[in-house]
Amino acid sequence: MLSIRNLEAGYGKVKVLHGIDIDVPKAKVVTLIGSNGAGKTTTMRAISGMIQPTSGSISLNGTRVDGMASHHIARLGLAHSPEGRRVFPRSSVNDNLLLGAFPRLTGGRPKGDVKADLERAMELFPRLKERRTQLAGTLSGGEQQMLAMARAIMLNPDVVLLDEPSMGLAPILVEEVFRIIARLKSEGVTMLLVEQFAAAALQVADYGYVLENGRISVHGSAERLRHDPAVVAAYLGGG
Ligand code: ATP
Repeated sequence: MLSIRNLEAGYGKVKVLHGIDIDVPKAKVVTLIGSNGAGKTTTMRAISGMIQPTSGSISLNGTRVDGMASHHIARLGLAHSPEGRRVFPRSSVNDNLLLGAFPRLTGGRPKGDVKADLERAMELFPRLKERRTQLAGTLSGGEQQMLAMARAIMLNPDVVLLDEPSMGLAPILVEEVFRIIARLKSEGVTMLLVEQFAAAALQVADYGYVLENGRISVHGSAERLRHDPAVVAAYLGGG
């Protein structure tokens, strides 16, 4: 589904990723773990075309997408829910969600039933349903975060990149976000997940990669990483 080989990327002269390989198979959840500054967000940005990789390849369903503009990659079926809340503050919740489906209307992908998907998103995120006519800029931080995630799903994507979906959320909302991820997984949605809560991410994920200073240091099944002493000590709060 999503296949990354020898990816290098950075900002100006600063190289952040030094040749990483990641595979995200269809209907699987893969998580990327690493300390602050390891390059997780940079990886997500390079995949979705927000920044251009300097080397390596990124294939989505067998099509090379590295070097393409982000709107083009979205049309090919890749949705990115970026770090931080990136909603359209002056548009309603409803309109933000419809904008998420916009690439479906302009690309070669099946349009599907946008209205039905909108209702499905509202079911998945009841907090948004209650506030569907409210301007997105007036939502709480947590609600905006959920809106960004719901908007990504509205693309009906082949792969969703979720960058820190629980960032800044109250514990009860963090639980809700992980419940939603598990539900999407059970529906067969393919996801690449970056999360500060590594233990919870490895509970929901099938496979994990550990990123250290822009290189993959360990990868394996989520089950194996949960029991890897070095991973436990560094990322799962063990010692
Ligand atoms: P965190 O968990 O703190 O979000 P991360 O693993 O997602 O960390 P990145 O955001 O990918 O890390 O950052 C990797 C490195 O790239 C850091 O050293 C950061 O300072 C640098 N960096 C990130 N964004 C930019 C930018 N826009 N311009 C220059 N350097 C950047």
